[in-house]
Amino acid sequence: MNIEINAFNDPWMDNGILNFYKILNELESCEAKLTENSIIVRIKDREKFVKELTRALLDKRQNLIVNEEDRKTKMQKEVKKDHVIIQEEKKIDGKVVLKEEIYKPEKTAEIISKVFDLSEGKNMCILCGRKYNKSIKKLQQANYPFVTKIASLSGVRSYKDDGRLSLKEYYDNLCPICYFIGILEWTDETLIYRTFPGEKSYLFMPYFDNLKELYEFKKLCIYTGILNNAERYSNIKVNPNTQDVENTPGEYSTLLCFYEKFVESATDEIIVSNWAVLHIPFGAVKNVKIDFLNINESILGVIKNLKESERLERIYSDLMRKMYFFSQNKNNTDWDITREIQENLSKYFLLDDFRSFTNSLLPKKGGYVFFSSEVKQNLEELIFEWRWRKMGVKKEKLDAIKNDGKIVAKISENNASLIYKLDKVRTIDDFWSVLREISRKLPGLDEKKLREIKPTALDEVIQLTKEIVEKNKDEWKEIRDLIVVYASMYYSLDKLKKKSEGGEKK
Ligand SMILES: [Zn+2]
Repeated sequence: MNIEINAFNDPWMDNGILNFYKILNELESCEAKLTENSIIVRIKDREKFVKELTRALLDKRQNLIVNEEDRKTKMQKEVKKDHVIIQEEKKIDGKVVLKEEIYKPEKTAEIISKVFDLSEGKNMCILCGRKYNKSIKKLQQANYPFVTKIASLSGVRSYKDDGRLSLKEYYDNLCPICYFIGILEWTDETLIYRTFPGEKSYLFMPYFDNLKELYEFKKLCIYTGILNNAERYSNIKVNPNTQDVENTPGEYSTLLCFYEKFVESATDEIIVSNWAVLHIPFGAVKNVKIDFLNINESILGVIKNLKESERLERIYSDLMRKMYFFSQNKNNTDWDITREIQENLSKYFLLDDFRSFTNSLLPKKGGYVFFSSEVKQNLEELIFEWRWRKMGVKKEKLDAIKNDGKIVAKISENNASLIYKLDKVRTIDDFWSVLREISRKLPGLDEKKLREIKPTALDEVIQLTKEIVEKNKDEWKEIRDLIVVYASMYYSLDKLKKKSEGGEKK
C-alpha cells in the first residue's frame, strides 16, 4: 500500500509532513522516501505499521508535556506546555489527560488504524484535495492552528468562493491523513518556543519551499543539541552541554538567540531565513496571530561573518543581552525598559533597520542605555560589519565618524538635546546646519574635554559626507545614524564613568 503526501506550501503542514517522515524512518513496517515536494510511504505490513506508529506517537506525546514540582505538595506532576492548543481534561494522578483521543494511550491504536484505512469516498479534503470516505475530526485549531487567520495564507490548496478563500473554523472536510499530520505537529521537537507566563507564547516554525532543505535544517536542530524540549518556557539551551535554557525578553530576541546558537553549532551552509511565528495567548479562547518573518540573507551573513572571524561570536549573549537601561530616578537598572531595549535591538538588527536600531540606543528621559567597554567593542564590530563594510569606505574613515560622535557626546553631557536634534534631521541641509552648530559649540568645552576629542574630525566627516553623497545622494543618512549611534555610546560610557567615580548628581 502506497501513500503519497505532497507539500502543502504551508509552514504548519510542511513541518508536519517532515515530523511524520522522521518517525516513518524509524519504523520497520514501512519505507518512506522524501522528495523536494512530497513524501512517498510504502506500508509493507499494515498491522505492524499501526502498532509501531502507535508506540512512536506515544513516545512523541512526551514533547507536549513537561514535568514540574507541585508548589503545594512538592510532588512531581505533568503540565501541558502552554503553547500547545489541545484541550485538556482533568489530570489523573498528576498526569496530563488530553481531550484529543489520538493522545489517549488507550485510544491511540484505534485512531491510527482509522487514519490509515485510506478508503476512498466522495468527500474532498480542504487541505490536500484527496478524496476520502470519513473525517476523523473537522478542521480546527488543534489540528491546524492557522485556522482563524486562514485568509492570510497563500498557497493553501482550498476551495475558492468568488475568488476568496472561504475556509472557516469547523470546516468539515479534512481528510484523516491531514488530520493526523496536523495533530502530530505539536510533538515536533524542532520548533522553537518561548512562553511568557500569563501573557503569551511564541512558536517559531522554519520554512523553506523545498521539503528536502527543510528536513536538513530540522535535522540540524536536533543533532546540534541546541534545543531542550523538557523545559516549559523556552527550549533554546544556553549552550549544548547543559540543560539550562535562555530567558529571552521577546519574539525577535528569541529568534536572534536561536541564530546565535545555530551558527555556533552547525557548520553546514543551510540556514533558514523564513519563519512563521504563532502568537498564542493565555486563556481559554485562543485568538492566534501569525507573523511571517523573512530575515535578509545579508543579516544572516553578518551573524556568520562575525562568528567566523571571531570578532563577535555570540551576537545575542555578548551584545544585545548585555545592554542595560539605567534609570536616574531609581538610581538603578530598570529591568522592564532593559528588556524592551534588548528586544528592540534584536528586532531592528534582524529587520535590517539601522535607523530604529540607533533610536533604541538614544538617551531617554530619566536615564540612558549602559554597557561595559567589552560590549562597546562588540557593538563597534557589529556596526562595522553591518553598516560600514557595504558602504565601501576605508575603515580609517570610520574613526572620523566615531570622533564626531564623541564630540556630540561631550557637548551633550548635561543636555542630550543635540543628540535628539541630530537624530531628527530629515534633509541634508538640516544635517549641515546641525554640524555647524556642533562646530560653534566646540570652543565652549572645557580643556579636559577638549583633550579627549579630535576637533578636526568634524571637517573630516563633512568631507567624507560630500564624497559619499556624490555616489549616492541619500547615503548621508547613514552618516547621521552612525554619528547618533556613536554619540549615544560615548554619552553612556561618560555617564557610567562619572557614576563609578561617584561624581554624578541627579
Ligand atoms: Zn487532506
